[in-house]
Amino acid sequence: MKRRSFIKSTSLVGAATLLPASALAARRLVEQDLGGVVNTGPVVLSTWDFGRAVPEAAIKTLHLGGSLIDAVENAVKIPESDPQVTSVGYGGYPDREGRVTLDACIMDGNGNCGSVVFLEHIMHPVSVARLVMEKTEHVMLAGEGALQFALKHGFRKRQLLTEQAAAAFKEWLKTSRNKKAGVDKTNHDTIGLLAMDGKGNMAGACTTSGMAWKIRGRVGDSPLIGAGLYVDNDVGAATATGLGEAVIKVAGSFLIVELMRNGKSPQAACRLALERILHKQPHYAERNDFLAGFIALRRDGEVGACSYRKGLQYTLFKDSAIRVVDAEFIAT
Ligand code: ASP
Repeated sequence: MKRRSFIKSTSLVGAATLLPASALAARRLVEQDLGGVVNTGPVVLSTWDFGRAVPEAAIKTLHLGGSLIDAVENAVKIPESDPQVTSVGYGGYPDREGRVTLDACIMDGNGNCGSVVFLEHIMHPVSVARLVMEKTEHVMLAGEGALQFALKHGFRKRQLLTEQAAAAFKEWLKTSRNKKAGVDKTNHDTIGLLAMDGKGNMAGACTTSGMAWKIRGRVGDSPLIGAGLYVDNDVGAATATGLGEAVIKVAGSFLIVELMRNGKSPQAACRLALERILHKQPHYAERNDFLAGFIALRRDGEVGACSYRKGLQYTLFKDSAIRVVDAEFIAT
């Protein structure tokens, strides 16, 4: 049934039957517009190039019988514990007081989600976010409370500031402390990861040390459900990287999923979300350091990615192969 005739026919149905009939018809509409579930096998998609080990960890977890949530958690734990990655977890660059504060979230395609923000001393914030999802009735824990929760569940306090990050902080204090914090090529790279099992189930995770040299207490888009990550088995999933404030302002990942729900391809949805940012906040286009980007996965396995500037890459596992792909960009 085409969208137009669907709307016409449901508007003629009596009030008593409208809800169940329209819910059923709406599901049929989604199935039709999005091509139904195609058995593609697993697909894993993540922002940037954090190495083959990331998608491999997700796929291996699934092969060993783990859940999709296990898969996305295990995959993003790799950059979280890698001291060479200065934008996620251990080794992440600190805030302007020299402290590493972490943000992360995790979500499945049925609306279950958990998040931690402004968390210090814990190597794997994504695992704490998962526990928030599974062990509490809440979605988000912040700061000291999130730390207490983590310690109560057996996580150990760690020094997350590496020598390399401390040296970079000292250098920043000398040269740039009076500059505004911003996202540029040297200080960003959140990992946002989306996965599907090819049988209609999706999940995602997003984890970051956030913008380097941020004001103490600043939280970006990455741990915010709907901004940094959104997953819906009925439609697809999206995640973000770049200037979190810009992404929050348009609820970027939720926007992309809703655009896909309304028939846009993952690629078009990512581009439209960026265009929405620039339409509402055109001043971003004047900033040399402005970068924001999205990746998206539709439930039939189709992917999309778009960033404001050239340079965003994403890592894709699909059809049994891993590839690093350059995203489309819109700045001329
Ligand atoms: N989105 C992250 C933040 O705003 C940074 C990034 O992805 O580069 O904290």
